[in-house]
Amino acid sequence: MLRGQKACVTGANSGIGLATAVAMGRAGADVVVNYVVGADEADKVVEQIEAFGVRAYAHEADVSDEQQVADMVARMVKEFGTIDIMVANAGLQRDSALTEMTLAEWQKVIDVNLTGQFLCAREAAKEFVRRGVVEEVSRSAGKIICMSSVHQIIPWSGHVNYASSKGGVGMLMQTLAQELAPHKIRVNAIGPGAIRTPINRDAWSTPQAEASLLQLIPYGRVGDPDDIANAVVAMASDLLDYVVGTTLYVDGGMTLFPGFATGG
Ligand code: NAD
Repeated sequence: MLRGQKACVTGANSGIGLATAVAMGRAGADVVVNYVVGADEADKVVEQIEAFGVRAYAHEADVSDEQQVADMVARMVKEFGTIDIMVANAGLQRDSALTEMTLAEWQKVIDVNLTGQFLCAREAAKEFVRRGVVEEVSRSAGKIICMSSVHQIIPWSGHVNYASSKGGVGMLMQTLAQELAPHKIRVNAIGPGAIRTPINRDAWSTPQAEASLLQLIPYGRVGDPDDIANAVVAMASDLLDYVVGTTLYVDGGMTLFPGFATGG
């Protein structure tokens, strides 16, 4: 589905990013596996991707560092010739009640989750605009996929930095989609619900925690990283070529206000 395309996935040595990088390789893309810590895990992801007969390499870069992101995309253009798909996935949480939250906790989350996506999108877009559409590769000149969250629209007490970053990602994505569509560049977001990864281990790692979490999920199961990875591959493919500026929630119905199923 993505044969001949060149994809960069940030935060690709864990959780959703890992599954997405592998799914991109399975779909035929050559893949840059970005990571900031954990070179061994990144190398293992590269091995998994290469087993599909496509190219991959690991690249260390902090997505909140302007120069490091520019260097990452420049190396990709040198080694793979270009970039077709940027999956801005890297993200983190630094949870705290508002009155306890330090400026450093606020800033770190905004820097990685929001500014990081801005930088990755900007560097990819420069190459998309320069190169334009190559018909044999894709109908689009490039795809930017922002990893958002249901917290793009669901407020989340005790996580104001995270929820604000994802709300920001929603408007970043829509504005870039509007600005870049005339260049035949598609910008969209994926909004995961509760997915079993290290970022939220406390929410699913005990039966009690999982039971409490399931009350928020009408479909009755916690998501797997592959649920998100498959959505990213579809979003990047020409099957969804007319989808521009949309957030696809992949959340088992978490955004359906499940509390109203019995109340209200
Ligand atoms: P994870 O902790 O398993 O993976 C996050 C990845 O981002 C890791 O590889 C981490 O090293 C990397 N990262 C962190 N800071 C970085 C930086 N400065 N530069 C480069 N990489 C950096 O968590 P995950 O659940 O796989 O999260 C991936 C994305 O999905 C995040 O944007 C997260 O907000 C989003 N998300 C996750 C869930 C969920 O339930 N797991 C739900 C909604 C949204």
